[in-house]
Amino acid sequence: MSSRPESLFPLFASLETLEGIGPKTAQHFAQLHVQAPRDLLFTLPYSGIDRRLRKSVKDAQLPDTLTVAVKIGRHYPPRSKGGAYRIHVEDDETTFQLVFFHARGDFWQRQLPEGSRRIVSGRVELFDGIAQMVHPDFAVAEEEASEIPPFEPVYPLTHGITQKLMYKATRAALARVPAMDEWIDPGQVKKAGWPAFSVAVSQAHAPASLNDLSLDAPARARLAYDELFAHQMTLALARQVERRKKGRPSRATGALQDKVRASLSYALTGAQRRAVTQVTADMAADQRMNRLLQGDVGAGKTVVAFMALLAAVEAGGQGVLMAPTEILARQHLQGLQPLAETAGVVLEILTGRDKGAERQAKLSALARGDIQVLVGTHAVFQESVVFHDLRLAVVDEQHRFGVRQRLELGRKGVRADVLVMTATPIPRSLALAQYGDMDVSVLDEKPPGRKPIQTVLVSTERYDQVVDRLRAAIADGRQCYWVCPLVEESEVSDLTAAEARFKRLRATLGEGVVGLVHGQMPPAEKDAAMAAFQRGETQLLVATTVIEVGVDVPNASIMVIERAESFGLAQLHQLRGRVGRGSAASSCLLMYQAPLTDTGRQRLEVLRETEDGFAIAETDLKMRGTGDLIGTAQSGVPRFRVADLEKQAALMTIAQSDARKLLSDDPALKSERGKATRLLLWLMRQDEAIRLITVG
Ligand code: ADP
Ligand code: MG
Repeated sequence: MSSRPESLFPLFASLETLEGIGPKTAQHFAQLHVQAPRDLLFTLPYSGIDRRLRKSVKDAQLPDTLTVAVKIGRHYPPRSKGGAYRIHVEDDETTFQLVFFHARGDFWQRQLPEGSRRIVSGRVELFDGIAQMVHPDFAVAEEEASEIPPFEPVYPLTHGITQKLMYKATRAALARVPAMDEWIDPGQVKKAGWPAFSVAVSQAHAPASLNDLSLDAPARARLAYDELFAHQMTLALARQVERRKKGRPSRATGALQDKVRASLSYALTGAQRRAVTQVTADMAADQRMNRLLQGDVGAGKTVVAFMALLAAVEAGGQGVLMAPTEILARQHLQGLQPLAETAGVVLEILTGRDKGAERQAKLSALARGDIQVLVGTHAVFQESVVFHDLRLAVVDEQHRFGVRQRLELGRKGVRADVLVMTATPIPRSLALAQYGDMDVSVLDEKPPGRKPIQTVLVSTERYDQVVDRLRAAIADGRQCYWVCPLVEESEVSDLTAAEARFKRLRATLGEGVVGLVHGQMPPAEKDAAMAAFQRGETQLLVATTVIEVGVDVPNASIMVIERAESFGLAQLHQLRGRVGRGSAASSCLLMYQAPLTDTGRQRLEVLRETEDGFAIAETDLKMRGTGDLIGTAQSGVPRFRVADLEKQAALMTIAQSDARKLLSDDPALKSERGKATRLLLWLMRQDEAIRLITVG
């Protein structure tokens, strides 16, 4: 099934095929990301108006939307042009007014003749002590009472789209839902008490009360699950395709790993040992490894990666470690070189900076297999880079890459095992959305002996005090980072801020003590600045967020972050993770521009209260929503229309295991349920998945 099934054609036809929608309206709908009738199905009401008939407006808490039966009284046309047209009406217990603007001629005399009875529904408010209903939403004869929905769904709107239009359009789309077989595991449907898809989607658009609008309402929960399940099917299919490609088993002897382990000044944590075992087992298996190593900042991912790289070498092959920045690549080289020497392994670096003869020499050494482990930036995956026998690719700080880029990596012909590492402790539901196609190892244990980082909030008004404190710390031989604000999105303005701060701090603290590093510096200067700080020659390093990921200088024990309120929580956590790595007590000063908003303060307080990256990420997700947290666009996490990742994490977990189970029982999706699931994938616009079925 490589083209859309016919039963879905009406749902994927143009919007203009729906009655009452012309080209103009269709354009307005695009604002709501509604392109086809199908999208209307998943645009659900977020609220509802109770329009049940009541006796009187008398005892209601105004303003409120009310529905009452009235007797039409006297009409009062406007006395001046543009004035209000008023009609006195009488319900069971009191009188009030209907008010209209722009009344024309005797229109209202004909519509609502004095003495007639009507049911009116609309917002009633007090104006000069008189209750009035301005432009009722409904004013119908008593025999037409059924025209007024007892509970009217309220939809998200945009310019040019009214509630009435939305209501009509969604009904029209619902009428196009074809008969479909069940794609969810029958046991799950039964356990959760979910209605069939067609029933669920109708119910979700026709709530009978506020309860029906909650996430847990069976109809809504089912639709959320359908979305998550379709997404997890895509990831599961990607995983299946990856796993089907035979890898070459790389059997580690343990000889090199043992040597390195013995030379370390510390013992691996339990979590590290577990991760090494999992990775080594994956590498020894026939299937290709596609594993994620997740661990909070400072959890010690690098040494796990190195053990894996050694396994590749032990098996007679090569390994590559790719870092997101030049700084990190150099740091890995420096940190790993002594370990490589212990093991007698040849380690080299390759970045965009390598040019000419030197680069050529490295490339030939790689092609001959003389370089066994290569570290570098994404330059290591350029076409001209040819390995003799590449068996393992490690991608560090993966959160900068999305699902798509990762699939890309596979397509570029990296035929090796893949291990990606992320330091962003993202909540489980997001991890599943983003990395559901991978197997996961978690470093949930920090190396022992880490001192807690004291985190304080200080207003920028106390700049001088902060500088005094730094001066004292520097005199004590300690080292500090000073991170400059994200002024705007543009690097240039970040840069200006960092340079200005650098000059000012240098003037106060002294020439030679203060260093500067930012993304736009010429590479050699950047290295020199980092190296000087690492050697302790400079004691205060002014930086932009280039130091965010991975930088490791154990002697640095103070982190100042200027305009902390402008950063994301996860990012602040990353930055703070640059200190607290050595034996000295560390602190983090979050400088904010007063006054802080309540939420602004709450966010920063979360950091003050915990160092648990997962807790911080959960809070961040709650406070900011999915999109912002990881930047949906780059992260490859889809925007779900119905599902709420933050509150429905449990459903995501079920969806993942259900999807994997279905595929292992029915890899080609040929069974009844398999076929139904294909239809779901079409319905959910999972084109990537469809392509994968076709390939597989
Ligand atoms: P991250 O997970 O953030 O990449 P790193 O791999 O940079 O963390 O490790 C942070 C620091 O912890 C490094 O200085 C490393 O040498 C040290 N380290 C790693 N594992 C252990 C351990 N088991 N015991 C003590 N220190 C460790
Ligand atoms: Mg790291």
